[in-house]
Amino acid sequence: LHPDLRERCARSVSSLDVAVCAIGGVVPLLETYRFRDLVRVIIASKKGLDPSKPVHLFGAGHPLVFPLATLLGCDLFDSASYAKYARDGRMLFADGTRRAADVRESSCLCPVCTAHPMEKIAAEETLLAEHNLHACFGAIREVRQAIAEGDLWGLAERRARAHPALLDAVRELRRHNEFLEEFEPVSRPGALTYVGAETAHRPILHRFRRRLRERYSAPPAKGLLVFPEGGRPFGERLAAVVDQVARVADVHFAVKSVWGPVPLELDQVWPMCQTIVPEATDLEALEAAEVFFRDWAAGAGFPFGILWEGEATLDDLRARAPGGRAIDWNALRIRATADFQFGRGAADALFAGAISYVISKNTGKVRNVLADGEHVVSLRAADGLFSLKAAGARRLAKAFPPPRLRIVVEEDTVPFHREGKNVFAKFVREADPDIRPGDEALVVSPEDELCAVARATMNGREMLAFKRGVAAHVREGVPHGPTAPRR
Ligand SMILES: [Zn+2]
Repeated sequence: LHPDLRERCARSVSSLDVAVCAIGGVVPLLETYRFRDLVRVIIASKKGLDPSKPVHLFGAGHPLVFPLATLLGCDLFDSASYAKYARDGRMLFADGTRRAADVRESSCLCPVCTAHPMEKIAAEETLLAEHNLHACFGAIREVRQAIAEGDLWGLAERRARAHPALLDAVRELRRHNEFLEEFEPVSRPGALTYVGAETAHRPILHRFRRRLRERYSAPPAKGLLVFPEGGRPFGERLAAVVDQVARVADVHFAVKSVWGPVPLELDQVWPMCQTIVPEATDLEALEAAEVFFRDWAAGAGFPFGILWEGEATLDDLRARAPGGRAIDWNALRIRATADFQFGRGAADALFAGAISYVISKNTGKVRNVLADGEHVVSLRAADGLFSLKAAGARRLAKAFPPPRLRIVVEEDTVPFHREGKNVFAKFVREADPDIRPGDEALVVSPEDELCAVARATMNGREMLAFKRGVAAHVREGVPHGPTAPRR
């Protein structure tokens, strides 16, 4: 497959003055259902391609592959498949191909299938071709709807049930998570719904586990008490047990969820709270959860870990981690969230000084966090992450050297951002390669003066590649002048 050559070639193509880049030579893969190789080919090409240019996939004309190919970043398809299949007496459906002669009833509601009896359709190549085209268009509409709902991963995983070769392809995706994760938004509206054992390997969950290992620091405790997967939010479900344990034992708390370990203070971070999983989990998912948990627990620094098995565990805990623990859950939550979202050290920077909260009257949860009277961040109910305020941005800018968290804009546009105008990709000079769609970012001048706080709409690499479109929505402009807090 020569992924290295494909990537190199894609780089050269991207440097040409072309509007659309195309990936070809995949028809033999499609015809022999080598979808896993198709994944490797597309990803290798995408790695080298300019992310601002639409990608055309030659020869992909079966509804089966549209969700997967779109997920990997293909935008346009063309193919004579609909006609070739018709000539061969075969009908395309979203879940596969059938010989027209074997179809007793078509489940399709296209004009052909609703107006003619199956015998007639099977006998006429034109009708078959017409149906096949409708099937393709329907599949494309389904893909677009899934994108609008933020559920393209779900569609690709569900469609993979239609053919084992497609399932192989979806299972291949986890091996490319480092690349796929770059394009994954920090959160999506609604819940993340379990489709199969593959779901736990989606980039969003890969990122959660990686950030936990790299950014999260557990509070000091003599041990870790581990709860099994169950009702969410975990903190609310387990509140009574946690209170009981904290009175007699000095341990911290985490849940061994199907998505991986979740320290209790991060249970509101998307998608850990907004998740729908089956009550009975399959063995593959359980084994994966076990591996995810061990990967984290080994480096988390707890002298021991113990699984909660009811009241009997209390005696164990008294013996192994004697002494109670007074826990300030609000403080734990905001500190863990800050490091998780912005990087290790962010909590120290954001929350230096006397901390106070604005608590939501509706939910009783922290809404705003103030440090020494300055409003530094707001906690979003929708995804459990922070919206950054100007005062918080100043603190992060001091704590993290460039290019961390930054979007560097052209000098000329600085005054506009100070007034709250959005950042256009065209005027982005540099950007932190670690910025992801939906991330909070610091908009700075070429001299690294903070001029706005913004929410990224694309990743750092895309900001540099795109010549048009909004790179980040400015939340708050930062006027010129004294950096001392105004009260
Ligand atoms: Zn039809």
